[in-house]
Amino acid sequence: MLDTYRRPLRNLRISVTDRCNLRCRYCMPEAEYTWLPRRDLLTFEEISTLVDVFVDLGVDKVRLTGGEPLLRRDLPSLVTMLAAKPLRDLALTTNGVLLAGHVEALKKAGLGRITVSLDTLRADRSKSLSQRATHPSVLKGIASVAPAGFTGTKIDTVALNGVNDDELVDLIEFGRTVPAEVRFIEYMDVGGATTWAPERVLSRAEMLTRLTAHYGPITPLRNEDGAPADRFELPDGTTFGIVSSTTQPFCATCDRSRLTADGLWYLCLYAMDGINLRDPLREGATHAEMAKLITDAWWARSDRGAVDRLAERDRLPFIPLTALKRDPHLEMHTRGG
Ligand code: SAM
Ligand code: SF4
Ligand code: SF4
Repeated sequence: MLDTYRRPLRNLRISVTDRCNLRCRYCMPEAEYTWLPRRDLLTFEEISTLVDVFVDLGVDKVRLTGGEPLLRRDLPSLVTMLAAKPLRDLALTTNGVLLAGHVEALKKAGLGRITVSLDTLRADRSKSLSQRATHPSVLKGIASVAPAGFTGTKIDTVALNGVNDDELVDLIEFGRTVPAEVRFIEYMDVGGATTWAPERVLSRAEMLTRLTAHYGPITPLRNEDGAPADRFELPDGTTFGIVSSTTQPFCATCDRSRLTADGLWYLCLYAMDGINLRDPLREGATHAEMAKLITDAWWARSDRGAVDRLAERDRLPFIPLTALKRDPHLEMHTRGG
């Protein structure tokens, strides 16, 4: 199944909650938020039913995210349900705060891989960036992943000029010890990034210049189909990734879509509207009817939000705070990043 730019539907990110226990300044800077009504949240059975439809249409990679997915009670039960499906990859993105307490149950439930977000190795910086003093728990969470039997672990770092741009090497060195591949993500102007400004973006080009100055020649690696991160190899064989969503977007090969915790399906991180899958599902739509709804939307998909943003002059944050307050679906933490 291909969209108007001949991009397949392969990758589904499922946000299981819009709540979070951190308040990262680039994602949820405010103290108060309007939460999705609890009655609207998809049950695990509903998520599982929708994933069956998506799998029949070509999805073979599912990532659980949020908000903070480990705040959703009994997440391993959902993992068990999803792990029984014919997926190539079943992964979780977490801020790591609660990870150590859940990692074994997640492994037992059949989770394939874990990505932990870690922006800094310094506790004081972490506190200032996430507005919570949880850095030791995050490090404990990261340390618990390999002993629980997980491999293919990743660390995601949002690279911010003037904040953590002096830690690129330290983070790669830390990644080696975990072991985990570090991926640096360019600061994006989506959702809650209400203080975004071009000069705060540490670009992929600048990251490569700094890392080359430290390590010597860096070799680009062949990309996995549709993967957002460009991967690179250091002279000693250590690999890392860069997700250059802001300065060199990868919309041309984007095979991902996002399901919010209340069942709205977004075809692009920058899309203003989502397709309501919850209501038809609750009104008793059959598998075939849900498949038609999804197929028709994907065939018509022409989004390439990050490319369109790049063409804009005098770029400001994408959505003003007033609009975010009116519709929480526009938030990054609702869409799952
Ligand atoms: N709470 C979990 C976490 O932080 O890993 C999962 C959800 S979070 C929205 C998913 C990813 O989005 C995180 O890696 C986070 O760093 C990233 N993210 C959030 N806001 C961003 C922004 N403005 N620019 C780039 N990445 C962002
Ligand atoms: Fe930070 Fe993730 Fe929570 Fe956003 S959802 S505030 S990135 S921990
Ligand atoms: Fe995909 Fe939209 Fe992100 Fe482009 S901006 S990579 S189309 S989700």
